[in-house]
Amino acid sequence: MRTAAAILLLLVWSGATFAAATEPAARPGRLPLGVAPVHYEISVEPDAATLGFRGRVAIDIDVGPATDAIVLNAVDLDITGARLDGKQSATVALDSAAQTATLTFTSPLRPGRHRLALEYTGRIYTTANGFFAVDYTTESGPRRMLTTQFEVADARRFAPMWDEPSAKATFALEVIVPKEQSAYSNMPEASARIEGGRKRIRFATSPKMSSYLLHLTVGELERISRKVGAVDVGVVTRKGASGSGRFALDAAAAILPWYDDYFGTPYPLPKLDMIAVPGSSQFFGAMENWGAILYFEPALLVDPRLSSESDRQGVFYVVAHEVAHQWFGNLVTMDWWDDLWLNEGFATWMAQKVTENLRPQWNPRLQSVSSSREAALRLDAGEATHPVVQPVPSVETANQAFDSIAYSKGGAVIRMLEDALGEAGFREGIRRYMRKYAYGNTVTDQLWAELAAVTGQPVADIAHDFTLQPGVPLVEVTTGPCQSGRTLVTLAQSRFEMGTPSKERVTWRIPVRLRSVDGGEPVTALLTKDGVPVKASLPGCGPAVVNAGHAGYFRTLYAAADTARLRDNFARIPQVDQLGMLGDTWALSQAGRIPAAGYLELATAVPGDSDPLILQQVAATFGKIDRVLDGSEAQGDWRAYGRASLRPIFDRIGWLPVPVESEKVALLRETLIRVLGRLEDPAVIAGARERFARAAKDADALPAAIRESVVAVVARHADAATWNDFVARAKAAPEPIEKQRLFSALGLALDPTLAARSLELSLTAEVPSAFATNIMQAASIDHPALAFDFAVQREKVVLGYVEAASRWAFIPSLASTSDDSGMIEKVRAYAERSVPADARLATEQTIAEISDRVRAKEKQLPALEAWARSRSKVAMTH
Ligand SMILES: [Zn+2]
Repeated sequence: MRTAAAILLLLVWSGATFAAATEPAARPGRLPLGVAPVHYEISVEPDAATLGFRGRVAIDIDVGPATDAIVLNAVDLDITGARLDGKQSATVALDSAAQTATLTFTSPLRPGRHRLALEYTGRIYTTANGFFAVDYTTESGPRRMLTTQFEVADARRFAPMWDEPSAKATFALEVIVPKEQSAYSNMPEASARIEGGRKRIRFATSPKMSSYLLHLTVGELERISRKVGAVDVGVVTRKGASGSGRFALDAAAAILPWYDDYFGTPYPLPKLDMIAVPGSSQFFGAMENWGAILYFEPALLVDPRLSSESDRQGVFYVVAHEVAHQWFGNLVTMDWWDDLWLNEGFATWMAQKVTENLRPQWNPRLQSVSSSREAALRLDAGEATHPVVQPVPSVETANQAFDSIAYSKGGAVIRMLEDALGEAGFREGIRRYMRKYAYGNTVTDQLWAELAAVTGQPVADIAHDFTLQPGVPLVEVTTGPCQSGRTLVTLAQSRFEMGTPSKERVTWRIPVRLRSVDGGEPVTALLTKDGVPVKASLPGCGPAVVNAGHAGYFRTLYAAADTARLRDNFARIPQVDQLGMLGDTWALSQAGRIPAAGYLELATAVPGDSDPLILQQVAATFGKIDRVLDGSEAQGDWRAYGRASLRPIFDRIGWLPVPVESEKVALLRETLIRVLGRLEDPAVIAGARERFARAAKDADALPAAIRESVVAVVARHADAATWNDFVARAKAAPEPIEKQRLFSALGLALDPTLAARSLELSLTAEVPSAFATNIMQAASIDHPALAFDFAVQREKVVLGYVEAASRWAFIPSLASTSDDSGMIEKVRAYAERSVPADARLATEQTIAEISDRVRAKEKQLPALEAWARSRSKVAMTH
């Protein structure tokens, strides 16, 4: 969702319907037990012009103990008729706070199977939740597409239903649309009939699934497809755009058979569509509806004229993530949202794994160490962290659960467990779990049990330490002298925290892999729950690399002498460990655990011919350091040093791709253009401006490979004339992706007057409403106070552009890049005024992020200034 990944699952109530009555009575935020849905027949007739729809639903239900009332979920629905078994009618009471409808009958319902029929009307929204409209323009005028997004709990805005993941049932959906339009849902079309200018489309009945996975898209659509084994795989787009779906179709065609094999259970539906809609959401990029995955266009479409290498790899990765959910999430589903992480962590890890197998040339392992792993470690070391498994007492808290802890820490913990258990045993455990719980629901411990049964290892002990406790372990390393060709290494553990140390002591069972720089076999040491230091005897006399392979979820702190030896031997260290060490070193210097210039000292040891992904890490961190130096008199010296270090690399790889270069070089180029732009490199800024100017008449002047990064540099340095040029080009851009990119870029202007003008523009009719929040988010990167104040002053209007799932997080998030301690009080005051108490996790995470940055700046600034002043004439030796 927020991380370009969304979630949908299917649940099966199965034979366990009444056994559920033995669960504890306290189920905060959940429907009462006793009545369970078995099958839904839903028919909707949308009116796109008036943003409303009429609906009918017939639900086969099993009634447990006799009752005279049925409670199910409904929001923004007007229920106009309710009948049981075709006769008995009911009175309907809606509770908008609880999001329920209570149907009360005059006489008690007998236990057993009944059919409940409801008639109702509902709303079509203009933000991405429930049943919603997406507007876009074509050469022949404006168009409106209708689509759905139901996770976590918005299916209840589409039809009255038991809208909880464990209430699995089968769904048969029917929709009545204008006859020139088409519609897609989870299952293939079973019949289509023209009736008086309208078309009645009925879809085949789905397998048992959770309500949040139900999907419908209606519009002027086209589809490309390919048979992959027995499965009809398709990409569905607005008319004229399907050519940009080829890349994703190829990706899915490769990924699907790989998963069939990995999970040992073939994909169970007859078709798998990937549906692209224009626009964007603050909450998600794609959603794994079973058989009908929804993507916003930038997450699915690759346009050879517009899309860069990072776009292409991003699309592959999102497809891999969403298709993984078709098993992990859709076929086997978490019982309740407190185990959401299992869906998201697993899909995050699985997408990395399949990419490593199918696209090894991208080196996804290195990429995940510097991106996903770092994202998790950063949030988890802050004051607002929480355990991976957390209680979810309400829909609000369920929406908040989609954070880097669920996705990235979840994925990192699964990676660590796979590494500890071995690839083959882990896969066999997953296959058993899929077979055993297909079409059902689980809690996390049921996965650990299957993995333990296969491997004989105490999986749950380690897994519980990392999922039920918050925080990042810090492994402190001291290396003894070498004796008889072996080195004794002492490993101690504590908790790594960016802010005030917590009072509660936390320890972990941690599998730690070590290897000597000399080579030789790695050794695994298990740190114990009692926290007592552990000694490991390592073959070889070189310095020890701890967390060899960087599959372990912890930071490593070496004794100063060991750090110096590792730096001297840096080129001999495997690339994945070089990247891991660079990430750890930057974080340790931010936390004040090592001298602030420690990162730069290590960066100078990075060979100039290193893997492009390692050079990319260095370049990106140089951009972060520049930000720490914002407002410092030493920033000019720093920029001179940064340019002198990075320009030789850029000069070597050049502005344009050459036919034989690696995709990793393409990624490095994108980063270097942005970072050198930030460092005010005159040649890069001039080169970007010149290409952007020529591109007004000649599209080839700005090839796809560098298009986004050049646009970002020009927008950052825009003057008023350039800003006007951006507005004109954005309005004229025919493709929604390009339109969105150019409008968003307006927010990047460094000039605060122009940034303010962009914010004002975002709320006018000149900007398509789907892109308004993109502009605000872009402006918040360099002007967090400006963007935050702007949104607070216009709170009601701004929130009109934000979908329900992001309502409480969006405005605080605009402040999150601030390094001004004064912002903390402003954010807190806003939250206390406007955000319900149980929906403040995102606010707390924003506040922790700001305070971490304030503290890190205090610790790092003097040493970074001193470094900049002394080195401005001495570049890294690239
Ligand atoms: Zn996901």
